[in-house]
Amino acid sequence: MITSVAVVGSTGSIGTQTLEAVADAPDQYRVVSLAAGSDVAGLMAQVEALRPSLVAIGDQSKFADLKDAVAALTPDLDIEVAAGPDGLAECSRRADVTVNAVVGFAGLPVTLACLEEGKRLALANKESLIAAGPIVQIARRTEGAELVPVDSEHAAVHQCLRANNNPAQVSRLQITASGGPFRGRSARSLQSVTVADALAHPTWSMGPKITIDSSTLMNKGLEVIEANELFGEPAGDAGCGITLDDIDVVVHPQSIVHSMVTFTDGSTIAQLSMPTMKLPIAYALAYPDRFPVSYGAIDWATLGSLDFDVPDRSAFPCLDLAFEAGRIGGTAPAWLSAANEVAVEAFLKERIRWADIADINAAVLLSHDGGTGESLDGVLEGDHVARVLAGREVEHRSDGRT
Ligand code: NDP
Ligand code: MG
Repeated sequence: MITSVAVVGSTGSIGTQTLEAVADAPDQYRVVSLAAGSDVAGLMAQVEALRPSLVAIGDQSKFADLKDAVAALTPDLDIEVAAGPDGLAECSRRADVTVNAVVGFAGLPVTLACLEEGKRLALANKESLIAAGPIVQIARRTEGAELVPVDSEHAAVHQCLRANNNPAQVSRLQITASGGPFRGRSARSLQSVTVADALAHPTWSMGPKITIDSSTLMNKGLEVIEANELFGEPAGDAGCGITLDDIDVVVHPQSIVHSMVTFTDGSTIAQLSMPTMKLPIAYALAYPDRFPVSYGAIDWATLGSLDFDVPDRSAFPCLDLAFEAGRIGGTAPAWLSAANEVAVEAFLKERIRWADIADINAAVLLSHDGGTGESLDGVLEGDHVARVLAGREVEHRSDGRT
């Protein structure tokens, strides 16, 4: 049987690697829908190669361009064209498995539509789960719905948990972190780092937003909240009832151990592979089976040593901000994640300094209004308010730079 796949965010780093993995197993997977944010040309190159039945663009103003391009390509073929959040959501309703590879809060409609449709969600878009945790948890309970993480640390935990049949015997999770390009640097020396410095990740090649998040350790902080959402539930989808207090962050510069689970008897199970996202993508596509093609297998003769250390929480304050937001709960993670999106975008445009990102995130989190996040409207409102506040913080620091 062929598994139909929706790739939403298909033009990005995770999206293109998903298409490569699907192309490696053509007897088992077929892409039926594709979507991007605004890159019509990039999307059309994929449409031409893959001929999906539905293609969508997040940016509504690009709908006519996309429609014309599809019509010019395939006057005789029936490819539907859609736009906006509904168009992205529709892509996921058409497939057995959706890879949500959108960056940022814009991925939320896809996460919800896929789970509410009772389908498999291969989730790379951590921001949707972090911002809308309580709502996503309800959607996860839809019959048939299944959430398999693509984020490498969570894919690792997901695999480690399968080594034990009693989730109540999980004691702690160890989420590994490469430490990013600034590992070992003092807070003082980080005052003058540039965008190019922050984009130079030592072990992973990823989209710009997550690469900056890796440099601030915000990515690890978001992943702690993500792990708590994914595995904190008592049952289903490998939930094991852990809390934020049961999650450790371990710096591991080689990015070979992707995360670990420690059980009540003291035994720790780890998942190891070379740093490639193709393996966790393929894992989420194939689960509960294994993908037929090998990615990232280790050559033990050349691997060398593996190192582990504690994170520097004072040079990288975003890590503890995430723990704090997770403990506050409700819409606090949505506020932090939204503020961070605004701050990272401003940093990438060189409007603020690298160190301002953490300061802006802290200032916005401090203003959190106690929202519970139990309704979609509450989450959307929280995201909006946090963006406005973060925008003001950016203005305040940008000194007229646009
Ligand atoms: P990229 O920036 O490389 O790609 C982002 C994708 O999202 C592009 O296809 C982009 O389309 C699309 N997009 C952007 N805005 C919108 C929108 N408003 N509506 C619909 N689509 C949109 O990001 P990555 O692939 O690096 O990351 C994607 C997600 O996966 C993030 O949540 C990230 O945290 C997570 N992740 C990524 C990893 C990696 O190795 N890259 C590792 C672990 C997690 P367009 O090209 O048109 O802008
Ligand atoms: Mg990760």
